[in-house]
Amino acid sequence: MPLKEYKKKRDFAVTPEPGAEVKQAESRDFVIQKHQARRLHYDLRLADEGVLKSWAVTKEPPAEPGVKRLAVHVEDHPFDYKDFEGEIPAGEYGAGTVEIWDRGTYRPLLEDEPDNSVAEAIERGALKFELDGERLKGRYVLYNFERDKGGKNWFLFKMKGS
Ligand code: MN
Repeated sequence: MPLKEYKKKRDFAVTPEPGAEVKQAESRDFVIQKHQARRLHYDLRLADEGVLKSWAVTKEPPAEPGVKRLAVHVEDHPFDYKDFEGEIPAGEYGAGTVEIWDRGTYRPLLEDEPDNSVAEAIERGALKFELDGERLKGRYVLYNFERDKGGKNWFLFKMKGS
């Protein structure tokens, strides 16, 4: 069931976050939310198959090549989360302030993928994409360096010459 984990972690009577609804959309939106939780991080979310594929990036995502950021793969978020900003109350999962840090569209670069799907690229542990945001533009890579151990730690970096 899509968004099962998202739903399980939250009490929608308390949090102002969007409900667990899948929404098919034509556009490939992305958002990066600056999330001042117990620890400041940046949530990168890419729209795919009605949800937002999500990674918690431990420091500000790089605008230039040469910097690798740790990006922890987290549960899918509902499509409407891309517009969410606000305060998650104390005691709730991810308690703290969420603000949109960047937004725009992305283009998956799937020439190496046999079936041309973002979901499959994520499953295989490497996704290349081009961001067209307000802050970030250019080609990026998400790479799961723990895939053989089933880990959730990925790297995010900008491709050279992009
Ligand atoms: Mn977060």
